[in-house]
Amino acid sequence: MFGITTLEDISTLILQSHDLDETLNNIVTLVARRMRTEVCSIYLLEDDELTLRLRATRGLSRRAVGKVAMKISEGLTGLAVEQSKVVSILEPQAHPRYRYFRETREERFHSFLGIPLFDRRRPIGVLAIQTLAPRQFSGEEISALSTIAFQVSSIVVNARLLDAIRQKEEQANRFVQELEQTRQSLRRQSNDDGNDDSPARNDYSALRGIPAYPGIAGGPANLLDERLGFTDIVDQGEVEPERERRLLEDALEKTRIQTLYLEKQVAARLSSDDAAIFHTHLMILEDRGFMQKLLAAIEQRRHSAAYALKTVVSDYVEAFGRMEDAYLRERAADMEDIGRRILANLRGQNQQPLQLKNPGILVARELLPSDMASLDAEKILGIVTEVGEKNSHAVIMAKSMGIPTIVGVKGVLKRVAPDENLILDGNSGTLYINPPPQVAEEFERLEADRQREVQRFDTYREQPARTADGQDIKLRANIGLIGDVAIALRNGADGVGLYRTEFPYMAHGDFPDREEQYRLYRRIVEDFDGRPVTIRTLDIGGDKALPYFAPPLEDNPFMGWRSVRVCLDHRDMFRTQIEAILMAGVQGPVRLLFPLISSMEDVRACKEVVGEARRHLRAAGLPFAEKMPLGVMIEVPAAVYLAERLAGEVDFFALGTNDLIQYLLAADRNNPLVAKYFDPLHPAVVGVLGQLAQTARNHRIGLCLCGEMATDPIHMALLLGLGVREFSMAAPFIPRTKAFLSRITLAQAEKIARAALTLGVGRQIREHIRKELAEQDILDF
Ligand code: PEP
Ligand code: MG
Repeated sequence: MFGITTLEDISTLILQSHDLDETLNNIVTLVARRMRTEVCSIYLLEDDELTLRLRATRGLSRRAVGKVAMKISEGLTGLAVEQSKVVSILEPQAHPRYRYFRETREERFHSFLGIPLFDRRRPIGVLAIQTLAPRQFSGEEISALSTIAFQVSSIVVNARLLDAIRQKEEQANRFVQELEQTRQSLRRQSNDDGNDDSPARNDYSALRGIPAYPGIAGGPANLLDERLGFTDIVDQGEVEPERERRLLEDALEKTRIQTLYLEKQVAARLSSDDAAIFHTHLMILEDRGFMQKLLAAIEQRRHSAAYALKTVVSDYVEAFGRMEDAYLRERAADMEDIGRRILANLRGQNQQPLQLKNPGILVARELLPSDMASLDAEKILGIVTEVGEKNSHAVIMAKSMGIPTIVGVKGVLKRVAPDENLILDGNSGTLYINPPPQVAEEFERLEADRQREVQRFDTYREQPARTADGQDIKLRANIGLIGDVAIALRNGADGVGLYRTEFPYMAHGDFPDREEQYRLYRRIVEDFDGRPVTIRTLDIGGDKALPYFAPPLEDNPFMGWRSVRVCLDHRDMFRTQIEAILMAGVQGPVRLLFPLISSMEDVRACKEVVGEARRHLRAAGLPFAEKMPLGVMIEVPAAVYLAERLAGEVDFFALGTNDLIQYLLAADRNNPLVAKYFDPLHPAVVGVLGQLAQTARNHRIGLCLCGEMATDPIHMALLLGLGVREFSMAAPFIPRTKAFLSRITLAQAEKIARAALTLGVGRQIREHIRKELAEQDILDF
């Protein structure tokens, strides 16, 4: 009977297959036999996305394979693609879309079932079956076939992917050969001319990027290898290939098992669609080419298993990264993920934290929050990245650590060699490579000035945050890592306004259990010694991924399955975190915050989980805070619209302006191309913030603004005037903000806000505030 065994057989077929045609043939044979149909065929869509070609068949003439092709606007097979849904038809000849191909002799068949194949939502082909006798397929049969169609889709995608890598590799090899030939002929020429063949080297150069966090730093370059965790893996010279090979095979086997497990787990909890990513990983882990390259690096080049993995995975990542097709480019992240996991298994660990040998300037292509979570902050004097935007989470973390940072420095990895002397000017966004003594001296002078400025603000650390006319303002810290606690306390933060709990999750090799989370939260609550700590539940997705929980590939991750949406779909994990937070509430004043709320259903569902968590803890006899203020992040425009209603459900609002601005203005917070559209002083943003402050006042609930905009005194002046009295920010900004507050009165701020609300252009609002502050002699920050 058609059922689970067929599915298992197909899985085995897929796992063992490396050749697309052979696999497709095996699948059509198996399906036709198990379904007892005379025909099973697979058609794939060509690159033009308009033509379907027969790629494998059981029952139709073999000669038709590769020849029979039709437009998607033709035939019943085309109809399945065109409509993106299952087409099930009795007596197909009578259907207006029927098209006859002589090669296939299809006139004999009296029923047709076509199931479209998809790569995510993009159609890529059709699985079709036909029978001699008229037959109505049952819902169960159609659903089983749809599962097979899903599996077929994933092998097609993977096979194409591996093919693309092979082609790119061949291209790259050809290119290297050509380059070498050119080089040799140039050398011959210059020897003929009697020249020295080493070009003169200009040692000093400067590169420009986007300033992300101000400050100046100098030191040796610390190059970070592409987030693979391979930084400290070097070629060890002579190794024992047999031993390395065994180590590698063991690690690969473990990684395969873990991947299978991950796939099953995700498929059971979510859908097989979501689990598809792990199938891709499995295909790569099973790919003969991948294996051969690893073995060649060990056996022929005598590399250690780890070094072989480093070189092979980096080659793949690079090849993918260069691809034009956005989908294929995204595969680079999969390769990285696989590389990390194999490496972790090679080292017998779940997840190896990245190690930097000496303090220096970290130079990387891109930093993900998980890198920042695992790097030793003490050793990072400055950060330079090739890509990335200044609002990315990694940069937010760099800010909270107070590390001068420049992003978007094109070509930096090619221009900088390990340990080369660098000076990073985070104020102007310039990176100096091997600067001459005069430049170095100038920077020493600037650094001394900066230190003096820091000292000037130092006096404010211990002082209360108060306006010139005596209004107390709450300035709390945004924290993510445990190291942020000391920074927050040192900078005189009044507790924590936003604890981004995803960062400790990122630093782990697996989901931390309740006890682990509780210990961490308790420690933070105790360190703040009676000052409030707002703990936000897991906010992954968007640009924040967990190394062990790959989010599904999405066209629009910031609009997708992120944050509280992930949590509500993983209730056990969500409840576990809430339980740990409730338990930590026994140690001090904790507030519980839910991110990315976009409906009343969201907030009610979150409260339901809080109820479940309480019941669970009570039943287990564990102490927890019976009363804990609950809050929601207002960061989705829908929540702004629902603010009055939401205010009736919770104790406080947290204004997440980083996301709120991006969603309100449809301007990606990380995309430099639209940076000018991401304007915190856009009249729409100003209006919304004023309205939210009013709503919170009317309902007498708390309101804390925790987006990055609060760190700019121009914004702060306006926000005060709009009625915001509580802020949370990267702690190094707190002393400076206190200094600013001490010079402005509420009346001045309110005057600024009143005028701003009447202006219709962001630039005018900025100019107006600047002018007002300058006139009042407030702005010398
Ligand atoms: C925000 O969106 O403004 C916010 C504070 O949250 P995050 O930056 O973590 O998304
Ligand atoms: Mg946010």
